[in-house]
Formats: sequence, structure tokens, C-alpha cells
Amino acid sequence: KQWVYLFSAEKTEGNKDMKDLLGGKGANLAEMCSLKLAVPPGFTVTTEACLDYEKNEKAINQDVKAQVLKAIAEVEKLTGKKFGDNANPLLFSVRSGARASMPGMMDTVLNLGLNDQSVLGLAKLTNNERFAWDSYRRFIQMYANVVMDFNISLLEATMEDLKEARGVHDDTQLSAGDLKELVTVFKKIILEESGESFPTDPMEQLWLAIAAVFNSWGNPRAVKYREIYDIPHTWGTAVNVQSMVFGNMGDDCATGVCFTRDPSTGEAKFFGEYLINAQGEDVVAGIRTPQPINNFSKNDSNKNFKTLEEAMPKAFAELTEVYKKLEGHYKDMQDIEFTIENKKLYILQTRNGKRTAAAGIKIAVDLVSEGILTKQEALLRVNAEDLNQLLHPRLDPKATKKMIAKGLPASPGAGAGIIAFSSERAHTLAEEGKKVILVRQETSPEDIAGMVASQGILTARGGMTSHAAVVARGMGKPCVAGCSALMIDYAAGTLTVDGKRYKEGDSLTIDGGTGEVIEGIVPTIDAAITADFATFMQWSDEFRKLGVRTNADTPEDSKVAVKFGAEGIGLCRTEHMFFEKDRILAVREMIFANTLEDRKKALAKILPFQREDFVGIFSALNGLPVNIRLLDPPLHEFLPHTNEEKKELADSLGLDMKTIEHRGEQLHEFNPMLGHRGCRLGITFPEIYRMQVQAIAEAAVICTEKGMTVLPEIMIPLVAVEGELTILKEDAIAEVERVFKEKGKKVKYKVGTMIELPRAAIMGGQIAKHAEFFSFGTNDLTQTTFGLSRDDAGKFLPEYVNKTLVPTDPFVSIDQDGVGFLMKHAVTEGRKTNPDMHFGICGEHGGEPKSIEFCHKIGLDYVSCSPYRVPIARLAAAQAAI
Ligand code: ADP
Ligand code: MG
Ligand code: MG
Repeated sequence: KQWVYLFSAEKTEGNKDMKDLLGGKGANLAEMCSLKLAVPPGFTVTTEACLDYEKNEKAINQDVKAQVLKAIAEVEKLTGKKFGDNANPLLFSVRSGARASMPGMMDTVLNLGLNDQSVLGLAKLTNNERFAWDSYRRFIQMYANVVMDFNISLLEATMEDLKEARGVHDDTQLSAGDLKELVTVFKKIILEESGESFPTDPMEQLWLAIAAVFNSWGNPRAVKYREIYDIPHTWGTAVNVQSMVFGNMGDDCATGVCFTRDPSTGEAKFFGEYLINAQGEDVVAGIRTPQPINNFSKNDSNKNFKTLEEAMPKAFAELTEVYKKLEGHYKDMQDIEFTIENKKLYILQTRNGKRTAAAGIKIAVDLVSEGILTKQEALLRVNAEDLNQLLHPRLDPKATKKMIAKGLPASPGAGAGIIAFSSERAHTLAEEGKKVILVRQETSPEDIAGMVASQGILTARGGMTSHAAVVARGMGKPCVAGCSALMIDYAAGTLTVDGKRYKEGDSLTIDGGTGEVIEGIVPTIDAAITADFATFMQWSDEFRKLGVRTNADTPEDSKVAVKFGAEGIGLCRTEHMFFEKDRILAVREMIFANTLEDRKKALAKILPFQREDFVGIFSALNGLPVNIRLLDPPLHEFLPHTNEEKKELADSLGLDMKTIEHRGEQLHEFNPMLGHRGCRLGITFPEIYRMQVQAIAEAAVICTEKGMTVLPEIMIPLVAVEGELTILKEDAIAEVERVFKEKGKKVKYKVGTMIELPRAAIMGGQIAKHAEFFSFGTNDLTQTTFGLSRDDAGKFLPEYVNKTLVPTDPFVSIDQDGVGFLMKHAVTEGRKTNPDMHFGICGEHGGEPKSIEFCHKIGLDYVSCSPYRVPIARLAAAQAAI
């Protein structure tokens, strides 16, 4: 079995389609070698070897070891250096690389192979003592951190102290002697603190480093990252062992990161940052302010620095050629890592670059107009869920705002909340229901959970390609980075700007599109829809087969949804209308009525309100279908809670408080979810549904008379047996016809049912006899199929997801095997009985891409989701159809 794959200009065994085996990084390194780019040669140890290692009680098997040794020999031949040699040492980087890119999740060790002897050889060979010792001290730091699991803040503090003693600001200002001294001290600290001496044998260093990368797959932050991004824990990571090139040999050397297009806006302009005389992650770690690679990449904090274009024109020209080649080859925006050693350019990584949703759309639309992608390909490029970022509010430009500082506009969108200085605090405060802005010196992969919990991220250090910026863009969270005016004191828990002090709990607003940091909470306004977005959505509509409707109960929500492209309402919940302040009293009177007469009197008070609601919604939807669900929740939900409310009700009904309390107790149910609700109310209190139907019919007539088209659909909830629907449908039709006769006007309408109980789905064929449509209420259908209450599942369902007893939370994504089976059955049987009927879904799942794909597969006519998810559903429906 082949466990190790070589990559080099001369011989390459992998390619870009082997990501499963070689990881994304390894597959792309191989591909770039085949493209004849200058990639330092090396080899990839496969993800299978990682899984084997885990299975083997964390031992690298002999076959793998033998193949690694053989590969080392090949790389020695290609480079003319020798691993473990003191005079002409071959040094390696050991890099992790999973199937899906997990930026910053796993650590890299550079300069591996150095020890007290070979560092001298390296110095002599390169005639550069400073460089050799700089490489060695970096190696010790990284190796101690990643492989020995040593807390390197001690080492970092030592280095800071030395810099202070020397009166210098940057690492680059330390001399060879300083660095040599650091190496000695580092090794001493490590020995004292850990009881282990730093390994000197290069081969031992390598085996331990490979094992550490394998182990890093299981480290908590990698696990957390996979949970957030839905990456299976079973994939494993590959290890890339690659010969080193050096960006830290002097002023002819550099290292950097670039994007083939602007990752914030998508603009087709080359963008990037670099540092002279630096190595590895110096650029993203925010140690020094990175320099712009070209004029386009300049911003407030780096505009006075020399660009790469100016500093090293030849290497820049080469890089330009490379980026064009790579983007053309991958047909997508690339995120490229490079290093320049003595003016010579090397490419160390390429991958499809993370981008904001806005950039994603612009890039997709541009690539189509550049003739690189087809519309279908472009539609598949954008993750539907990411559209979320675009549809959310931004700062109201008219609001007064007190800007206190300005940083880099690292990830667009507006966020406001209270300050939290640590990931843990952000998390805790968010759990308490607070909105939080995470304020950090800079973020690291440990901060992922806190970033997820925050409305936005603000950092004092780091550039546009810093950890905070990249991760925030991926999450669609606003981020302002590199805001150097912030003075953060973690120990004191304060943030000082311009002499003014803020502490945890004080409010801040950030605008990740402009970099502004603003005191207090600034109001926001809705997102503006760009021309590219409109184009992209129009393409989605060209390809999708599913209709997209919205769940909306008010004219305002309906308007938002229609603006986002909703083709009707799939679920209008009438009970929300019952809760309105000025009508709840009438609703309570209705519930407490002892006689039919009294109940009718109370209902007559509600009627005009309902009619007005429906007129509003029909008008907002002008001509599009509106599915209205008759009253669904158990009546006790409308009961008065406070004494004040009870008193008010008692007075208006002429009852005493005791009777009120007593009636309330009578309405109590042990299990309201399965109790007296839905059509069961309609069966026992037919006058309630009659009033609602009357309001619908009258509103339809009013709107029609105003010249509008109205398409009402009356939906009966929670049907389990055929008879319920027979009775309630006849009743509804009788009421509608009565109104039409009275008004002398007829309007087209439909009557159908929600399918939300397993029995209804199973009996779909029979129930369809009386229905003009089915709408799957998958929230209840999931609860009742699993026998699982949504309100209680939080205590154990996460554990089920963790243990993969269920692939995902079934309330988030449809359980296709179980619930989906019932849906499919109901559709098939329903269509057999009644070929003209239509099918939709109105549960929360109607806006979730995987569930939408499923709905497409089983042949539903439409999905319905909340207004802000309508564009997501349009795209997901198109992707399902392509
Ligand atoms: P990550 O997955 O976090 O991006 P990488 O494996 O890409 O980690 O390594 C981080 C950085 O280390 C790279 O961007 C590059 O600057 C540096 N690096 C990795 N391999 C080499 C190498 N062979 N020579 C020089 N620098 C390297
Ligand atoms: Mg890293
Ligand atoms: Mg990298």
C-alpha cells in the first residue's frame, strides 16, 4: 500500500483530485508541481496513514516509516542536501493538511532538522549566521509548542525581555549573538519546565513531528472547528514534509500571502500582504504590520510601506504570472502562500480562497462574464447558507455615531454589543442572551468558539490576512482588525482609546465594511441588494424547479420576503394576530365564554381585526398565493398571566377572580403539544374557524373589488384522520360561499391541510381526497415521528449528534430516512388520489439547503421559509436542480 506520495518538479505522484487521500494542501502542492511552478520538493503522508496511526494506538507503522525514509532519500537527491547532515543540512517543514481547509487549526513546524551542530553548518554554508540562529530559535519555539506541547509563552516572554533589553521593536533587529543566546536560554527553560531535553536527532524530530500532526487532528480546537463547519471527524489529516526555503535570510527575502481577487469585495484585483526578512506565519500572526504587495493592497495602516512591486519587481512580476496561471487552472479565486529566498519566488500553497458572501457572488458573476465558468458552475460555487451575510442589516448612515477609532475593514457588516475580552467571556455572555463584541489583541484558533458567539470581532493587531480577518470573513461576521489605537489590558479588563477607558459590559459598534469603531449601539438598516446579487438570483430562478414562498404573518414581513423574491406565503400563522395588544382581551373573552352566544359575541369583536390583517397581507402579496393556517395552538396559551391581566378580564366579563383562576386550571393540559389544539379546536368549537374563514373570504372580496388578484389557501392544521378534514373543509366551504353570496362576488380559493402527524402522512392517499394541497409542517412532523419534544430535546439531542446517532439535528435538517420517508409516501399516495393537488413545506426546514435538496428530490412544488432565508432557498433550490 502506498502511504507516501512524492511531489517535485521532476516526479509527482498526486494531483488536485486526490484531496481525500493527500489532504487539500498535499493535493494542491502536487498539482502545482505538475504545473511546473517553483514548489520546494517534498512528500505527503496520506490521511490513511493518520487513520492507521489512530487505530494502531498511536504508532506509525513500519511500512509508513520505510516509505518515508525512501522519500527522504529522493528529496535529498533533488535538493543536493542531506537530512541530518551537519555541513549541508536538508531542513523540512512539517505541515498538516486535511481534506477541507481548516486554516490555523493545525500547526506547522518549520526548519526541522536543526540542532547545535547543523546550525553551524547552515551558518557557514549560507555565510549568514544571523539567519541560521533565527531559523533555529524559530524551530525550537514551534517544535516545543506543537510537538512537545510546551507552553511557549515563557519563551515568547524571554524574547520580549531581550528585545526590550536591546531597545529594539522588531524580531529582525536582534543580532546573531542575541538569537544564539535565545537558543541556549530556550533549551534551558524547556528542560527545566518540562524535564525533557530538546531532541537533537533530526530523525527523531521528524517522527515525533509527524505523530504530532496526526495527534493535532484530535486537538480540541480542531474538533470544535469541525463541529462548527460540519466536517466529519473520521477524515484524518495528511502530513506534508517539505524541504525548506527561507524568507528570513535577509532583505532579499520575504514571505507573504495573496489573493487573486479582493476577498472582501470580490473585485478582480490582485491583493496581498508580505513581510521582508520573515518566515512562516509572521504575516498572519500580527507580529509586525504586514506590507502591501501592490498599491491596491494599501490601507490606512500600511500605506507608507514599500510594496512588493516596488521592493522586488522581478519576484512580483513572477508572482503575477503565477497567480493568473493558478486562477485560470482552478477556475476560482485562489489564496496563495509564497516565500522569496534571495529574490527567487517559491509557491508554498494554493487553495480556493475564503471570501465574504458579497465577494463570492461578485467573483462567480465575473467568472461567468469572463467566460471561465458556466452559469450552472457559478451557482454551485456559492454556499447558499453564506447569503445570510448579505441579507442582514448594516449601520444606518443617518444615525449619529461617535467614532472612537478606525481599524482595517476586515470583514463587512455591522455588529453591536457589549465588550468581552476573552473567548470564554464572550461565550458566557452570549449564553446569557447578551450581544457581544469580542475585543482581542489578536485572535488565535483558540478563539473560534468566542468568535461564533459574538456579533463582531475587533482586534488591535493583525492585517487583512490575519487570523481574525480570515475566520470572520468565513463566518460572515463583521470584523475590524489591526486597530492600533486600542490599548487593551487583559489583566485590568479594560480597553483604552485616546485616554478614555471602556470595560467589559460597555457597548461598542463596529462596521467591518469601513473599519469604524463606534461608542454605544448604533441603529442598523436593511441590506442593499447589488446588481451582481440580482443577476445571481435571476440565474438561480432560471434553473430551480421548486417554488419559494415565505412564512410571514404580517404585511411588513411579507413585503421583505417579496423583495427577496418570495412567490407567495406558504404559512401565515393566524394566532400571532390573536396576541396583539388590542385584541387579546377579546380572545380571552372568547376562551372564557360559557355559552355559544357569548363566544360568538367575542369572536365578532375579533373578526374585523382578522379581516384587516388579511387585507393587509393580500395587498402586500398582490396576486401571489397566500396560505393561511387556521388557529393552531392550545387555547391556554392565550390565558392571562399577571394579576393585572386577570383582573382586566374578570371586569370585562363580570366574573370574579376565583372563576378566572378556575377556568384557567380547567384549560391546563398535561401535554399541550399533543392536546386540544389544531383542528381539534375546529371540531369542538366550529365557530372559531368559521370566524377566521369569514374574515379571509371578506378580505378576499374587499381586495378583489379594489382590483387586486387574491389567491387565498385555507389550511387546516394537525389533521390525523380523514373525518376531521371532511367536516372542517365542508364547514369552511359553506362559510366562504355564504360570504360570497352575501357580497355578490366570487374569488378563487383552495382548502387543504397541513401534514404534521405521522398518521396523516401514512393515510395521505385518503386524506388527499379532501385536500387541494398538502403542506408539510415538518417541525411537528419531526417531533411526532421521533416522539421528541422540541422544547425538551436540548438536554439530550446534542449528545445524539455528538455520538452520531443522528447525522444532524433533525430539527435543523430533515431526517430524510424517517420523516422524509413519511413525506415521500404522502406525496406519492396523495398524487395518486388527487393528481391536481400541490405540495409544499412550511416547517423551519424549508429554508435549510440540505432539506431543500430533499424537497426537490421528492417532487414538492414549493418550499416556504422565513423572509430573510428566501434568497438562500432560491439558490439551494437551483443547486438541487443542477
Ligand atoms: P497552515 O495550514 O496554517 O496554512 P502551512 O502548512 O501552510 O500552515 O504553513 C504555514 C506557513 O509556513 C506557510 O504559509 C509558509 O509561510 C511556511 N512554510 C511552510 N512550509 C514551508 C517551506 N517548505 N518553506 C518555507 N516556508 C514554509
Ligand atoms: Mg498554521
Ligand atoms: Mg498555509
